[in-house]
Amino acid sequence: MRAVVYKGEKEVAVEEVDEPEIEHPNDVVIDITTTCICGSDLHMYEGRTAAEPGIVFGHENMGIVSAVGDAVSDLEIGDRVVAPFNVACGFCENCENGYTGFCTNVNPGFAGGAYGYVAMGPYTGGQAEKLRIPYADFNALKLPDGDEHEESFSLLADIFPTGWHGTELANLKAGDSVAVFGAGPVGLMAAYSAKLKGASEIYVVDRVPSRLELAEEHCDAHAINFDEGDPVDQIIEEHGGEVDKGVDAVGYQALDPEQTSKGDDYAYDPAKENPAVVINSLIRVVRPTGELGIPGLYVPEDPNAPDEMAAQGRLGIDFGLLFEKGQALGTGQCNVKSYNRQLRDMIIEGRADPSWVVSHRVNLDQAPEMYERFDDREAEDGAFTKVLLEP
Ligand code: NAD
Ligand code: ZN
Repeated sequence: MRAVVYKGEKEVAVEEVDEPEIEHPNDVVIDITTTCICGSDLHMYEGRTAAEPGIVFGHENMGIVSAVGDAVSDLEIGDRVVAPFNVACGFCENCENGYTGFCTNVNPGFAGGAYGYVAMGPYTGGQAEKLRIPYADFNALKLPDGDEHEESFSLLADIFPTGWHGTELANLKAGDSVAVFGAGPVGLMAAYSAKLKGASEIYVVDRVPSRLELAEEHCDAHAINFDEGDPVDQIIEEHGGEVDKGVDAVGYQALDPEQTSKGDDYAYDPAKENPAVVINSLIRVVRPTGELGIPGLYVPEDPNAPDEMAAQGRLGIDFGLLFEKGQALGTGQCNVKSYNRQLRDMIIEGRADPSWVVSHRVNLDQAPEMYERFDDREAEDGAFTKVLLEP
């Protein structure tokens, strides 16, 4: 079958690889209908991680069940399903408590497992024609038959629940004001979740105008362009004070507003990055006793990491100010299972439609070009946000 294979820094290719098979009675195999490219894939694509050439990318997968292991009880051939990006067993203590992003069985020695991701276990990615789903009764969420809502449902694998998770980590309640840093797909979904939850005011910070426009149009957000000055000052000025809650949807590769200027291109540039800048901004912009949600990705200190920035697990965070303000913060991988059923039902009932974040829907064969352009965050007309690949 064809699959998106990592070849080395900034290079992927669509190549023939072995088809997945049922390896355990709990598995199913699905024929992928839609699989998305994620900002998290870019960490590997850019050569920032220890990902080895040869791995198949893809953790945002949906499709039709085409083979079923003997011990699977709830799924049949022909079922349409979406798979949370977390691979989870469903019965360890963390899974039992809803923390499926931190399953202790699927990837011993590391917090959690995922498809097609470095260090996240032996689970081949789904940017391919087929995917094996382990513990399938637990890890495949059934969807209505047909092809309705294909775009919105594909976002249930990761970014819609992850954006929602950002607001949950910040304990966002109806009536709260919130600042979301990053208007990539995750930040846009966090802002959209804040709108769905009834936030009173939403500020979205980025420097890519087309992404900020999406936040204004679909999330009723105030757009804050950090190339026009310190985003914290801009928010405090516009809001008339600090906000209640904050979400970091950027992660360690954050660009330092002091290093970027209007007109520069939008690709990440390690020379302009400062992995502490977003968290420090959030501590400043959120009010005393407010809460911070951090779904943006950070990595532990590792002197051997290929990327100098990524190696900085100790970020230079102003913990003193966080303490002085009595703020709380929540971090980590999204526990997709905790939210995907409810968000699916909101989509089915027409109460949520996150499909506006999808900018490109193309054949799997176009993956190399799509990786390059997503990495540059560029499109000739409009935003380049979420790419759906269809094998
Ligand atoms: P993305 O790279 O497309 O978006 C990040 C955005 O942040 C970009 O638009 C960029 O211009 C902007 N940005 C850069 N520096 C900034 C700054 N200082 N202030 C404000 N905005 C800034 O990626 P994405 O797909 O939206 O993912 C965002 C982050 O979420 C990544 O770190 C990704 O790895 C992480 N992620 C986490 C989970 C999870 O489970 N916790 C799941 C998916 C993705
Ligand atoms: Zn993802």
